[in-house]
Amino acid sequence: MSVVHRALKTHFGFEKFRSRQQEEAVNALLQGDRDVFVCMPTGAGKSLCYQLPALMASGVTLVISPLIALIQDQVEHLKALNVPARSINSKLPLAERRQILADLESETPRLKLLYITPEMVASPSFQPVLSSLSSRGLLGYLAVDEAHCVSQWGHDFRPDYLKLGDLRSRLQGIRCIALTATAPKRVKEDIERSLRLRSPLVFSTPVFRKNLKYDVIFRDLLPEPYVHLLAFAKEALGGNTAEKGCGIVYCRTRESCEEVAHKLTKLGIAAKPYHAGLKSGDRSENQADWMADKVPIIVATISFGMGVDKANVRFVVHWNLAKSLASYYQESGRAGRDGLPSSCRIYYSPKDRDQLNFLIRKEISRKQEKRGSEKEQDKAPILDFEAMVAFCEQEGCRHATISTFFGNEKPNCAGACDFCRDPKLVRAQLARAAALSTR
Ligand code: ADP
Ligand code: MG
Ligand code: ZN
Repeated sequence: MSVVHRALKTHFGFEKFRSRQQEEAVNALLQGDRDVFVCMPTGAGKSLCYQLPALMASGVTLVISPLIALIQDQVEHLKALNVPARSINSKLPLAERRQILADLESETPRLKLLYITPEMVASPSFQPVLSSLSSRGLLGYLAVDEAHCVSQWGHDFRPDYLKLGDLRSRLQGIRCIALTATAPKRVKEDIERSLRLRSPLVFSTPVFRKNLKYDVIFRDLLPEPYVHLLAFAKEALGGNTAEKGCGIVYCRTRESCEEVAHKLTKLGIAAKPYHAGLKSGDRSENQADWMADKVPIIVATISFGMGVDKANVRFVVHWNLAKSLASYYQESGRAGRDGLPSSCRIYYSPKDRDQLNFLIRKEISRKQEKRGSEKEQDKAPILDFEAMVAFCEQEGCRHATISTFFGNEKPNCAGACDFCRDPKLVRAQLARAAALSTR
């Protein structure tokens, strides 16, 4: 057993790495001399990429994380594993704060991981601590978690994250590891620039998943949309074989969740709704039934899926458009976690597009009015939405569009999308939709 594997087992109790990317990121930090950039979906185990090296290297690793609540969770989890991790923040009792500072000022601090918010980094009281650690050569790595927060284009941009670039410059000789979930290309570029990463080694989960079949159906062209949906669901679930599989239909509103679930059930396939308007008891019962394979289809608003990790999801349908290509990738990506063939379909409608477009713009002006000014990053939701619309209205490989959006190479789709399977059909559908809209 290698030293790294032994450490993985000793400190975290894991027998092996979650993925090749996780293992390689750890090794790159331990053995290499370059900065590291980790791009993996939520739940993939990004934290370990810096936690394990921090424990194996000398010095204290500084971890920047955006929220105190997030930090507290992580620190509690690490404490339970007997890992010397602490956080300095405004909510800390004075006695504990003194204790941590005393340790950091000692000749050989016991602490291995120090979690702080970017606001804390910038605070004058923290500066001497940092300089002292740095000048005595007692810093391990600089880890920036949720690194998309540095980007104006990131979905939760935080101005204080921008100051981390300066911090980076001051901490000469310390290597930086930035971590984020699968992010659009322009967000990644922002991160590299803002954190002044020096030709970082990038470890990312490939965006392309060849077991997922993507297609787009123009809903307004269908004489019987629900019958069409039913046929699709049946086929994706493999008729009515004994093999258990299930599906998710995403809708934007509570009303359409109810409507679609009702229609599918009436047509002969059991479907339950899931949305914020249900009594919490009913909602969790519907989810539990779906999780236990008692009901094959859940018809839900996007609030459904957080933390749901079900392997045998055979299809994900978007009855209404997602608000961005990034969210679409995440939501549709709940299909086929077991690696078996699965289908992702959007029932696209230009009416739906116009409605969502209106809502997104309204939300932006609401924010601007509240703030009293416009900002460059206000455009982000619009650009993200336009990428989603283009995906639906394009003539081209859907997998290629997704991969390129996230900065990956064009994959070998090999018929895993409607365009690559039959471009003529896609073109014909677009032509019929265009004819319909001018009528
Ligand atoms: P992310 O930050 O990428 O969303 P986390 O770092 O929070 O993910 O990890 C998600 C879960 O995966 C955690 O419960 C963590 O303990 C677990 N995990 C991480 N690495 C491994 C591994 N090598 N083996 C098993 N579980 C792991
Ligand atoms: Mg994380
Ligand atoms: Zn394709």
